[in-house]
Amino acid sequence: MKRSLFLVTLAAVVALAAACQQNEQPVVVPQVLRVIATVLPVENLTLAVTQGAKNLRVEGLLPQTAGCPHDYSLTPGDMKKIEQADILVAVGLDYEPFLDHVRENRGPDFNILLAAADVKPLADAAAADEATGQRRHVAFNDHPFVSPQQAAIMARTIARELTKADTADEAILQANANRLAAALDAVQADLAAFVATLPSKKVVAVSPIFGYLLRDSGLQPAAVLIPHHDDTLSAGRLAKLTALLKKNHPALILNEDQFDEKIARALGDEIGVRVITLNTQTSGRRGPDAFLAQARAMAAALKEALRGGH
Ligand SMILES: [Zn+2]
Repeated sequence: MKRSLFLVTLAAVVALAAACQQNEQPVVVPQVLRVIATVLPVENLTLAVTQGAKNLRVEGLLPQTAGCPHDYSLTPGDMKKIEQADILVAVGLDYEPFLDHVRENRGPDFNILLAAADVKPLADAAAADEATGQRRHVAFNDHPFVSPQQAAIMARTIARELTKADTADEAILQANANRLAAALDAVQADLAAFVATLPSKKVVAVSPIFGYLLRDSGLQPAAVLIPHHDDTLSAGRLAKLTALLKKNHPALILNEDQFDEKIARALGDEIGVRVITLNTQTSGRRGPDAFLAQARAMAAALKEALRGGH
């Protein structure tokens, strides 16, 4: 009786010891990486690329309504978010000047993913602005995401770079990026094929935001009303452009969703050309399907307006 009790106790001790030993072994729990995207265009591209990925959680940094961050200064709240992030996804091409501040704060080891790293930069139209003759120091156009073709490149870059941090989700990231890039390339190809049939390909853009889109679609920029996003349109410049464009008649004036259409209409009324406002991905919906839906709607609206212009 005593002996069997001893054996039972011994068995319990052995079992307990084994359990303790098991607990001491490192438990492999997949770490969920916190991915912060600076602005809506890269937030939506990242949401699309990471849809269904188990180890990535995507959040936006700037509010959905922030628009281009050319003059944006990070708030203490933004810095706190960045401090908790594992990866910061940005457009790059100096679209977010505040990245210098982030690099200073988080040091050289912090993972900043530049989505436009593989985009071939377009020289800024304002560098040789024919209406004013002014030359200003802006190296490259920093709005590649408006062009579906460049957005496709960015989606592939995001997937490739996120895979380096999250190898477990590689297959899903690659499949999402391939599908999105193919759909965006199809939008661009369709638009370019349509533009090729037009007798006049000249358009006026309200700002440089359409630079990549115009180039990739085969459209020719006759003028840019406001060469920099922080400028305003002066009466003198409007008069010069009006005189120029009465001779060099464009098919359409493209306004962007960040601007009041009144600015472009002031010119449109003078030269008798229609104005259309397009979504530039800097505002709109947030979600994994938002980027592609907005690109498709933008291309359809542009085709419709160009068709009406002839
Ligand atoms: Zn801008």
